[in-house]
Amino acid sequence: MLTYEEARRTVVDQVTKGKGPRATTKISVWDALGFVLAEEVKTDREYPPFHRSTRDGYAVRASEAASDATLRCVAEIKAGDTVTQPLAPATCLQIMTGAAVPDGADAVVMIEHTSRDGDVVRFDRAAQPGQNIVPRGSEAKRGETILSAGMRLGYAELALAAQVGATQLRCARKPRVAILSTGDEVVAVDQAPGAFQIRNSNSVSLAAQVRLAGGEPVLLGNAADRIDDLREKISRGLREEVLVLSGGVSTGKYDLVETVLKDLGAEFYFDAVAIRPGRPAVFGKCGDTFVFGLPGNPVSTMVTFELFVVPAIDLLSGAPARALPFVEARLAEPLNEKPGLAHFLPARVEWHGVTPEVKALPWQGSGDVAALARANCFLVVAADRGQVSAGETMPILLRKDII
Ligand code: AMP
Ligand code: MG
Repeated sequence: MLTYEEARRTVVDQVTKGKGPRATTKISVWDALGFVLAEEVKTDREYPPFHRSTRDGYAVRASEAASDATLRCVAEIKAGDTVTQPLAPATCLQIMTGAAVPDGADAVVMIEHTSRDGDVVRFDRAAQPGQNIVPRGSEAKRGETILSAGMRLGYAELALAAQVGATQLRCARKPRVAILSTGDEVVAVDQAPGAFQIRNSNSVSLAAQVRLAGGEPVLLGNAADRIDDLREKISRGLREEVLVLSGGVSTGKYDLVETVLKDLGAEFYFDAVAIRPGRPAVFGKCGDTFVFGLPGNPVSTMVTFELFVVPAIDLLSGAPARALPFVEARLAEPLNEKPGLAHFLPARVEWHGVTPEVKALPWQGSGDVAALARANCFLVVAADRGQVSAGETMPILLRKDII
């Protein structure tokens, strides 16, 4: 049985090897959050485009603004003003943050370090050349690449694109991810379940996780635990780049997902991982589609999606696979887990100042969605640990969707 690190490596290797060329599409900068860029974005001019003042104060020649020196202020420059006149000798100009520093001036003295009487400005301390000025072109040259293909677009990247006038961005098309739950007991979320039925909450969490990971969910509903129904709905799912199934991958009599996939020609790269929850997770390929069979217990489905499906969606989006964002936290209460499998326990991290402290939450096992909804992270207990004392440093995985 693979460890979760080995299983992730398998996903990364197989998807890297098996992914086809990526289709692209132009997206408005207003809508491109979470897309992966498929082109380079270059600057349209130098940045900053002029010598920019970073303070409200006076533009001076540093050599003329010694401590206790006085200079006559002859004009004012606001942000956005057109500046053509150089600074005349033995004068200064009042200047605002974001305004262009005129030729001849080589320093801006903060207004707080001056006093003024009419036109005459007195300097409390000697100005230093270059002070409070960001030189033209020092952030980026004209035509310089500032965003590259494969970058995920977050708010800063989008602002940078907007800054250089790139308002339509060529992005990778999001991978389409078919979602199919299985189980005779499962009814649609808008139906009233019978006394022994459950609503299809997994399709809801999976669709949310697909979106967060940068994919486009394609909802296929639920298949009964029967070969014919599974075959029909799985065949539909195999028209997409990725198919994620929930349920039907354990060893019970009605766990038929692997059998049906095998009949349809799938090859499997793993069919169990040494984790709890989530041990029966399956990964393979059927035709050109990457297939994940995730166990049906909701917390297992969520954990295995984060561990194994997210890197596949990353790669199929044209981005590198994101590393698991582990954080170290101090364990608030001792743990006593059965060793042998790596555990991902619903847990709550709180920050006292900057030091995170984590506590595993009471839970009824992998069916307990309510526990995970109270959690903001997973506490990760390595397979060779069972007993862990309070005060030890433990790895946690933040729930990035809510933190
Ligand atoms: P399975 O992996 O098929 O053995 O399913 C394990 C358990 O997960 C089932 O007994 C259900 O309680 C639960 N489950 C399965 N499918 C779903 C689903 N689509 N939504 C919510 N819970 C589910
Ligand atoms: Mg089932």
